[in-house]
Amino acid sequence: MDAKIAFITGASRGIGRAIAVALAEDGYDIWLNCNSDLDGVHETAGMVSSFGRECEIIRFDVSLREEVEHALEQRLKFACPDVLVNNAGIAKDSVFGLMSGQAWDAVLSVSLDGFFNVTRQILPHMLRRRRGRIISISSISGQAGNPGQVNYSAAKAGLIGASKALAREVGKREILVNVVAPGVIETSMSDKLPVEKIIDEIPLHRLGKPEDVAGVVRFLCSPWANYITGQVIAVNGGMYC
Ligand code: NAP
Repeated sequence: MDAKIAFITGASRGIGRAIAVALAEDGYDIWLNCNSDLDGVHETAGMVSSFGRECEIIRFDVSLREEVEHALEQRLKFACPDVLVNNAGIAKDSVFGLMSGQAWDAVLSVSLDGFFNVTRQILPHMLRRRRGRIISISSISGQAGNPGQVNYSAAKAGLIGASKALAREVGKREILVNVVAPGVIETSMSDKLPVEKIIDEIPLHRLGKPEDVAGVVRFLCSPWANYITGQVIAVNGGMYC
């Protein structure tokens, strides 16, 4: 039997890389996406290959619908991922009064349009096969709202609403749709944050690691999660309940 395929967007570093490695370890062949960090994505590919799994790099900007369609159209004629992880995301923080339209558009277009652009391509193939797992990486910002991140909070809350609605649409076809909402995780996205100050707000008193998030994605892809859909699982050290 062919190995299952997991497709992870934004997998050139950080959380996306950890998810790719974890799913490779669980026996998935991996499709990796990134936009510009080609050195990073090749490094991730090397890590995937060390588990003996097939790995394909598919470069595109998730926010550009035609580019996504062009990159996936041909591939989807021959294979369909069993797992899609919508992980690509960016932040452009500022207080709302000073937020530019560009900062608003950029963040919404990567996280939320990116969800639409990629999922809309893959879903019809999953529907035909009557199986699939779609997992999107939201954030504590989308659950609680975070000052200075109105754009990011909106995008990440949008992912939650979209995933809950989609879970209800496609459940009859055995496609499970869930969200993972990390707190503050040690990656390049969080490396400029005032860690000492933030740690006091985290009951576990430490930042999370990309592998902490990957572990939950791994669980959601496993048979242990066969009856879980439409859920938001927080990985935040108790920061927000
Ligand atoms: P990261 O280290 O900055 O990695 C982001 C990844 O997304 C990179 O691989 C990047 O690749 C890719 N990406 C960005 N824009 C893209 C685009 N337009 N098209 C395709 N790929 C794109 O961030 P991270 O911390 O691992 O974050 C991963 C996800 O977790 C994001 O959705 C983020 O919002 C979420 N999250 C992170 C934290 C945290 O504390 N780190 C907390 C909550 C949620 P390129 O550079 O090649 O574009």
